[in-house]
Amino acid sequence: MIELAESRSAHNYHPLPVVIASAEGAWVTDVEGRRYLDCLAGYSSLNFGHGNPLILAAAHAQLDRVTLTSRAFFNDRFGAFAAGLAELCGKDMILPMNTGAEAVETAIKVARKWGHDVKGVTEPNIVVMEDNFHGRTTTIVSFSTDPDAHDGFGPYTPGFRIVKYGSADAIADAMDENTVAVLLEPIQGEAGVLVPPDGYLRQVRELCTERGVLMIADEIQSGLGRTGDTFACDHENVVPDMYVLGKALGGGVVPVSAVAANADVLGVIKPGQHGSTFGGNPLACAVGETVVNLLKTGEYQARARELESVLFEGLRALPGVTAVRGRGLWAGVDIDPSLATGRQVCERLMARGVLAKDTHGSTIRLAPPLVVEAREIEWALAQLEVVLTGSELRTAEGRP
Ligand SMILES: *Cc1c(COP(=O)(O)O)cnc(C)c1O
Repeated sequence: MIELAESRSAHNYHPLPVVIASAEGAWVTDVEGRRYLDCLAGYSSLNFGHGNPLILAAAHAQLDRVTLTSRAFFNDRFGAFAAGLAELCGKDMILPMNTGAEAVETAIKVARKWGHDVKGVTEPNIVVMEDNFHGRTTTIVSFSTDPDAHDGFGPYTPGFRIVKYGSADAIADAMDENTVAVLLEPIQGEAGVLVPPDGYLRQVRELCTERGVLMIADEIQSGLGRTGDTFACDHENVVPDMYVLGKALGGGVVPVSAVAANADVLGVIKPGQHGSTFGGNPLACAVGETVVNLLKTGEYQARARELESVLFEGLRALPGVTAVRGRGLWAGVDIDPSLATGRQVCERLMARGVLAKDTHGSTIRLAPPLVVEAREIEWALAQLEVVLTGSELRTAEGRP
């Protein structure tokens, strides 16, 4: 299977050599029947677990009724999904798309149109952050500072100003009368789970309000329960002008993304100006509405909050770990580079029944589904300890 995949598909990924055949909750099973604790969770797309029964039931039921209508017509699932998500976000309305990158593109278009219509700006600029990750379209990679993501894909879309992440002063310095938005991740995921200094989001909020600029929070990975709150912005009681959502919004079943904002912002988009054939389809709405309802119970946010200490206290006690960052059930772990690369750590973890993903050389990310149990986290950390100390005293047996 691996040979077939590697010979007949572009090598735009470098997967770990595991072939998953089924999954349930926080666990996946490979083609040989070996089980692994999934500590990546589809880059936080699987916050509610693999095969979440409520999400699957909603999807199954919808499959038998109607799955696609296009937005040329209304469908009977769209209104409830839109209203539910808008309410979860505390915003007037949403605009549904499919993938995260499309939602980011939507936010950029809305910000430019808002700047044009409301502020009278004809050459708008948007302030973005170093080490950002917002997706893979040509416009988005135009303002990536990661050479792999950026180099060789020009010509680049103009209109973005890149500043250091974590400094509100840097944003203020980059702003001028043509600035229409500040786009940031409240925690930078792909960069290695970088948590900005306390008070940063609040300062950015105040700055944007003062200057009449939209604050756009890309919560595609940080949002929907991952950090112990519905949104990572909640930790500083900050409400951005626009939320950008994706990943877990699709419940691990279908791609569902959206932006959420008030009518004075999203209202600038008129018929024909933006859209998507699949955005807001009935299957996506059925799944998305279920996800919203799961989040409205607060259970998943509470789980992430409660298990945070198990994850982080465990990680901080490990030898060979030089730094631990993150919040909730989302950790970036820097490994002493003299011990192993992040890739090697992930390969050895895989051999011991734990799936995780490295990023930027010697950092690994841990983000298990929020249905994970404390003893499973402890077990995964024990596997990481064996990998880091090289002690093979413990075996991969005893998976909980
Ligand atoms: C994954 C991600 C995206 C892109 O989402 P896709 O669905 O892969 O297009 C954008 N922003 C952030 C913060 C992400 O983590």
